[in-house]
Amino acid sequence: MKSHVLLIFLDGIGLGTDDPQTNPFAVANTPTLLSLTNGRRWLNSTGIQYAERAVFVPTDPRLGVNGRPQSASGQAAILTGKNIPEMIGEHYGPRPNPAIRSILAQDNLFKRVVARGGTAALIEAYPPRFHDAINSGKRLASSYQQALVEAGLPLFGEDKIYSGEALSVDWVGKGWRSELGYTDTPIYEPAEAGKRMVEISRQYDFAFFSHWMSDVVGHRGTVAEGAELLELFDGVMAGALDEWDDDEGLLIITSDHGNLEDLSHKKHTENDVPTVIIGAGREEIASSIHTLADITPGIETFLYDRSGNEATHG
Ligand SMILES: [Zn+2]
Repeated sequence: MKSHVLLIFLDGIGLGTDDPQTNPFAVANTPTLLSLTNGRRWLNSTGIQYAERAVFVPTDPRLGVNGRPQSASGQAAILTGKNIPEMIGEHYGPRPNPAIRSILAQDNLFKRVVARGGTAALIEAYPPRFHDAINSGKRLASSYQQALVEAGLPLFGEDKIYSGEALSVDWVGKGWRSELGYTDTPIYEPAEAGKRMVEISRQYDFAFFSHWMSDVVGHRGTVAEGAELLELFDGVMAGALDEWDDDEGLLIITSDHGNLEDLSHKKHTENDVPTVIIGAGREEIASSIHTLADITPGIETFLYDRSGNEATHG
C-alpha cells in the first residue's frame, strides 16, 4: 500500500486546566485518548508526550497575533502551512473573508497533492440542502471546504453516505436521522465508524476528516455534553487504532483553536491545541511541529521528502 495521511480535524479543542467544573477533558472517560498520552489527560499541564503509538504535541494556534484564534484563519494555517493570521493581520472566522479565500485559491495542501498527481478528499459528506446553500451563495464554505473546492475536488453528498465511501460529521451517522430526517442511512457503532474512517482514508494520499460539533459544544454546551462528545470520539479512535497499521502512513489529530476545554465562557480560548501524530516516522514529524502552520510542511515532508517512500516514486 502507498503511504498515506489521515488528518482528523476537531474544531475548537484546546488544552485547559484540570477543572471538572469547566473542562470536559478533565472528566471524560476516554481510555483510548489517554493511551496516546501515557495515561495523562489532555490538559495544559500534559506537555509533549511520547507514547507507545503516538506523539502528543501541544501546538500554538495564536501564531504571534493578538486576540482569540478563530476558525477560518486557523484552518487556513493548518491547510497552507502559512501564518494566515499574520498575513491578514488578525484572527478571523468562522468563515473565510476575501483575503483568506484568495490565499486558499492560490495554494493549499489539497491543491499541492493534486498538482503532484496524488489523490485527496474531504471524507465526510453533506446533505443536499448544504450543497444547495453553497451553490446558491447563501452559505460560505468554511476554510477547509474552500481549500478542497479550490483544488477542483468535490464536496461529497448523500450518495457517499449510503455507499459508505464517506462518513457523517458525527462519525456514527445519527445526525442524518435525527437532524436531517433520513430513515435509511447507515448507523455505525463508534468503533465501527473509526474503522470505516481508516478504510476510506486508504483510498487517498491525503484524507481530511472534519468534526465541527466540538466547537458548537464549546460555544453553548455543558461539561456533560462535552464529555459525551469526547467519549464518542474515544470510541471512534478505538476502532480507528485497531484498524490502523502504524506502517501504512500518518494519522494526525489537530484543532484550529481552543474552546471546548473552557466552558466557563462561550468564547474561544488562547490555549494551545493538541496535535497527536500516530504512525511510523511520527517522531521526526512531531519534532517539527510548534504552530498550526507546521502541520502542512510536516505532511508534505512525510509524503514526498522521505527517501524510499513509495508515494514519491509511484
Ligand atoms: Zn467557534
